[in-house]
Amino acid sequence: MTKNYIAGEWVGASEASPNLNPSNTNDVIGEFARASAAEAQAAIDAAYAAFPAWSRSTIQQRHDILKAVGDEIMARKDELGRLLSREEGKTLPEGIGEVTRAGQIFQFFAGECLRMAGEKVPSVRPAIDVEITREPVGVVGLITPWNFPIAIPAWKIAPALAYGNTVVFKPAELVPGSAHALSEIIIRAGVPAGVFNLVMGKGSVVGEAMLQSPKVSAISFTGSVPTGRRVAQTCITADPMKKVQLEMGGKNPMVVLDDADLKVAVECAINSAFFSTGQRCTASSRLIVTEGIHDRFVAAMQERMQGLVIDDALKSGTHIGPVVDQGQLDQDLKYIKIGQEEGAKLIAGGELLKRDAPGFYLSPALFTEVDNQMRVAREEIFGPVATVIRAKNYDEALELANDTPFGLSSGICTTSLKYASHFKRNAEAGMVMVNLPTAGVDYHVPFGGRKGSSYGPREQGRYAQEFYTTVKTAYVFDGNGPYVPKTKGSE
Ligand code: NAD
Repeated sequence: MTKNYIAGEWVGASEASPNLNPSNTNDVIGEFARASAAEAQAAIDAAYAAFPAWSRSTIQQRHDILKAVGDEIMARKDELGRLLSREEGKTLPEGIGEVTRAGQIFQFFAGECLRMAGEKVPSVRPAIDVEITREPVGVVGLITPWNFPIAIPAWKIAPALAYGNTVVFKPAELVPGSAHALSEIIIRAGVPAGVFNLVMGKGSVVGEAMLQSPKVSAISFTGSVPTGRRVAQTCITADPMKKVQLEMGGKNPMVVLDDADLKVAVECAINSAFFSTGQRCTASSRLIVTEGIHDRFVAAMQERMQGLVIDDALKSGTHIGPVVDQGQLDQDLKYIKIGQEEGAKLIAGGELLKRDAPGFYLSPALFTEVDNQMRVAREEIFGPVATVIRAKNYDEALELANDTPFGLSSGICTTSLKYASHFKRNAEAGMVMVNLPTAGVDYHVPFGGRKGSSYGPREQGRYAQEFYTTVKTAYVFDGNGPYVPKTKGSE
């Protein structure tokens, strides 16, 4: 059994669950420990006990640990990418790409340790100095989804440790292998006992223990909207209340205007909708296409989709791997049926495929004649299922793009500076892409959305410090003048 890491020790559990390869369900990657609530509590206690010393550790120590983690990830990116693709089902180049990103994130935050700064500002009162500094928050609970098994943990763990917090990390049940491999690297880099804890297990057990514990000061969660809501409600009604950050679902639009470069638009749409098997929060499942290019775009998409190879994630030449598991496959098939019942036209894909080994293979599905009010256009499917929505002109396309409960990423394909600029300003999303897929972002800049997609401060880049630190304002009377404890009107 592959163990959890609690209070500086590898610890087994009374329960374990198998980690299956979605490209070949006969391939069992391993049996991974499933922690109990008591084991989760032990991890929280350890992180709580380790916090005072770690919060005062030097920035050099934190830098060196994070740098070592980043360097080892980079050196082993092919091997770790293989493990990731084997357990999650994204293709090997996508798996290696994700691992590379995780390594870069650790290296970036190693540098950030050395760039911590505060502000010293004059007081409005005489002989007083004001200092604004940032301090760690405490024990942070990190809850992650299955679709980015190493990058999302990396972009939460790296800033948490960089800014002096201690960590309890709960990965998604479906992808414990990458989480475990990452944890081994973090431990080898020399984090003191209790500073970093890995607790694999069920959300309803381990996740809940983190939400309920008064020793956990903050929760960073990435996952679905219903779970996110529950996380936020619990954090906000807890005593003491917890700081909370949520990254959730998307129903991201990609607008294609009459003046778009058709080749660019098709590549953007194929990548956004179907790569990583459509299982990205930034995937585009609404292709909003204006009248003049609609039919040419649909025909070009059909042709391009015929060339897509759907097969074992580890096979060279595979463009799209399997769906992650039976539950997600059932959800994809359910929505394909709903789309047909709603009157949308399935013009490509949506069929179960047989390959050499038993796996969750689905051909990417494309619907046309879709109304933006249909369920397939409003609800997150999280699979290789995309819809084409017809728009009269740019204005209607923008209106349709924004008519969604979500607001993560929003894209436009156009050769017009006027429309690109207008869209950039008026898209109701945290991220806007011009002539680029809606998915695929840099690691050194903020990531996050609006409306139903996100809640709380942004993740990644320098902006990550907003969540992983708390601000302190200090006032110091320097003795060089009359002592004025209070001026009129001051608090
Ligand atoms: P999920 O909500 O089912 O699970 C996410 C995590 O929450 C898992 O670790 C799970 O074990 C845990 N969890 C479940 N119940 C819990 C509870 N009661 N208390 C605490 N934790 C609990 O999501 P998923 O299926 O793993 O991931 C897919 C979703 O993630 C999609 O909606 C996708 O859009 C979203 N996602 C968002 C982003 C983003 O940055 N916006 C990135 C990736 C994925």
